[in-house]
Amino acid sequence: MLRATPGDAIIMAAADHANVQLHTGSQANMAAYFAMLEPGDKTLAMSVAQGGHLTHGNPINFSGQLYDSYFYGLDPQTNRLNYEMILDVAKEVRPRLIIAGGSAYPRIIDFQKFRQIADEVGALLMADIAHICGLVAAEAHPDPVPYCDVITSTTHKTLRGPRGAMILCRADWADRIDRAVFPGIQAGPLMQIIAAKAVCFKEAQEFGFREYQRQIIRNCQVLGQTLQEEGFTLVTGGTDNHLLLVDLRNKNITGAEAADLMEAAGMVVNKNLIPDDPLSSTETSGIRPGTPGLTSRGMKENEMKTVGHWIARVIHEGRDNPDVLEEVGKQVVELCEAFPIYEDLDI
Ligand SMILES: *Cc1c(COP(=O)(O)O)cnc(C)c1O
Repeated sequence: MLRATPGDAIIMAAADHANVQLHTGSQANMAAYFAMLEPGDKTLAMSVAQGGHLTHGNPINFSGQLYDSYFYGLDPQTNRLNYEMILDVAKEVRPRLIIAGGSAYPRIIDFQKFRQIADEVGALLMADIAHICGLVAAEAHPDPVPYCDVITSTTHKTLRGPRGAMILCRADWADRIDRAVFPGIQAGPLMQIIAAKAVCFKEAQEFGFREYQRQIIRNCQVLGQTLQEEGFTLVTGGTDNHLLLVDLRNKNITGAEAADLMEAAGMVVNKNLIPDDPLSSTETSGIRPGTPGLTSRGMKENEMKTVGHWIARVIHEGRDNPDVLEEVGKQVVELCEAFPIYEDLDI
């Protein structure tokens, strides 16, 4: 286990046990459920429609088919987690397991409050920090380790490692987690990926990583402000983390159309459901831009302003105007050339 010295990644140091064999985040969640639940047990998680993940009980996923899945949503006034509302649902449902975490939530998650809720209804608590793991490791987001029985995470999102996942847990879950991974759901480990995870954990312990994660958040906030100046609506009015959820309804364009236009101009984003989205998950009313990639290239606040204006221009003018897409596309390439991923690589 890693040692906590100043500047170290706190998360790995604080957890009793880690299993790093998981091939994907979805499999990490499957193993966690196999360790903690019997088929048919009740789970309570954030719904996909409100920012949760498919593997948290969605009916089209194994999690929704094997377990009796219930959901909490966001506060309709603020679009934020409302812990009193979650407690009310938890008291009604009496789940065996509460899951905290999601894929499209731009605000801090209070794991301590989730623990209080879990304790009040006698539930186990799992955090899925796939998205925010890098922020947590850099202490730029509260740490779930002191409050959760089990924590699952991918290693390829803000942690910036290889595609893969891990599970952290309390000592009393260690054997069950390990057995749920092997022989429960996986056979041979991917040793080359585990080696790459070791490299990413080492990088996460370095001081530069802390600064990187903080810059991701600063960049995301400036990108959000720039989009707001351009008349865009941000769900919750801003962000505390690495992503923005942009509500496009006042722009009269769907998330799918906006994402396609942006891609034609060299900028890749996810289309994304907004809370209570009137459109389907294939169309959506939102996009979900994030700043970890741009920040890794060395871009800072000024570049975020530029990118924000480009996004606005493409969405405002690009629809019937291939010249705008081409012009912005060229500027995107120039900016990327000025901030190469690998300086020595000739591509
Ligand atoms: C991405 C994600 C996953 C799944 O990860 P995969 O490696 O794509 O299976 C699970 N949970 C959350 C919250 C995620 O954002």
